[in-house]
Amino acid sequence: MIVSINPATEHELARFTPHTESEVDAALDAAVAAQRRWRARPVTERTGLLRELARVLREGKPRYARLITAEMGKPITEAEAEIEKCAVTCEHYAEHAPAYLADRPVPSNATESAIVHDPLGVVLAVMPWNYPFWQFFRFAAPAFAAGNGAILKHANNVPQCALAVEEVVRAAGAPEGLFRTVLVEVPAVAGLIADDRIAAVTLTGSTEVGAIVAAQAGAALKKQVLELGGSDPFIVLADADVPAAARTAVKARFVNVGQSCVNAKRFIVDEAVADEFTAAFTEAATALKLGDPAERDTTIGPMARANLRAALHDQVRRTAEAGAVVRTGGEPVAGPGFFYPATVLDHVTPGMAAFDEETFGPVAAITRAAGTEEAITLANQTEFGLGAALWTADVERARELARTIDAGAVFVNGMVASDARLPFGGIKKSGYGRELGADGIREFVNLKTLWIG
Ligand code: NAP
Repeated sequence: MIVSINPATEHELARFTPHTESEVDAALDAAVAAQRRWRARPVTERTGLLRELARVLREGKPRYARLITAEMGKPITEAEAEIEKCAVTCEHYAEHAPAYLADRPVPSNATESAIVHDPLGVVLAVMPWNYPFWQFFRFAAPAFAAGNGAILKHANNVPQCALAVEEVVRAAGAPEGLFRTVLVEVPAVAGLIADDRIAAVTLTGSTEVGAIVAAQAGAALKKQVLELGGSDPFIVLADADVPAAARTAVKARFVNVGQSCVNAKRFIVDEAVADEFTAAFTEAATALKLGDPAERDTTIGPMARANLRAALHDQVRRTAEAGAVVRTGGEPVAGPGFFYPATVLDHVTPGMAAFDEETFGPVAAITRAAGTEEAITLANQTEFGLGAALWTADVERARELARTIDAGAVFVNGMVASDARLPFGGIKKSGYGRELGADGIREFVNLKTLWIG
């Protein structure tokens, strides 16, 4: 059974019988047939679907946002912003996909030679619950524009969102079968990856699951994009605007109840400004409003599942036992719902759980650095490499330092966030491949060389 539970109340919202093998089989057959026809349509026609997706998403925004909040607990205003971001991204690809996919002439000995972009086929998307609409649409908008079909295996704590996403695509007028949500449990995924009707795989999820999916896709020699975990550093140098850094840091850590791959997780602060930063950051974190995520002024809703809260609290406990100082929070909130307060851990050092492991929830780790060089060394002292933020008044120096940070993105005097116009993805155990921008749309295409003598 696939069960949807409201994490704010622990009440069951709905339950679903997983799709049978023959239902999944029919979905795959339909996707392959629909994709063959879809790829033959000109890109300018395919982008029409993306404009419709944006319209349907905006029209249904209140309902879809309520569904997100009910199933995974993010504050309603953030759920609305998530739907809007999906719409903006669909519009971005509606406008730019024709240019991103245009033939690229390359001079050679041929009379004419060029790179052309053909779709790969039907892509299997294995997606997480933390942005139940966004994670899908940031993959699907470029994938559809490029002429691909898709099958979605969503996280099983958000089955209603998974079905709503299918409803959006259908309402936007996608050809029947081009996209299907399959409600299946984890053991079924290996079979999907191996299935000949699946051309490629995209996973957004944890590093552990990334390794499993990568091995399975590797065994089948299928292209894959892996968007995995992160432990992003937020570096504050001695010359930074500390009040501005602290204000942004609160948003960077606690948006989405701290359950985002690119939340800032390790705050690496020059010891010259560490006390000032810690005081301002802790004060602002303590002022966040924990409560019913359906209320518009709530900023900290529940975590998405009981087991995620238990794992986070275990990391806090181990970090405190190892010598870190708990400035605020640090204990689960009693009562119904999987609430955990905004928590700030100070004097965190390498070797402690909150430094070495990804913390996926509202817990910030502050690490003090003796100068810029040590700050960068600490920032890179992680198995992850998704994003990084760097705060300094010296932008010229920041340009150089940014190149020494091992991450898929460095944001100077800002917070890491995805943007349809810019590529997004990681290195090291944060995965490989890119989404968004021109690079994202080219992940699931056959970059074909056309040579004419
Ligand atoms: P997860 O446990 O890895 O689950 C992600 C998806 O994989 C779900 O659909 C899950 O299905 C499925 N899955 C679980 N075990 C599997 C297996 N053995 N084989 C195939 N599929 C399997 O991750 P999560 O807890 O939902 O999400 C949090 C993680 O995602 C964090 O580490 C976060 O950093 C990362 N994330 C990364 C990005 C990025 O862009 N880099 C964005 C968001 C989140 P079930 O729900 O049925 O288990």
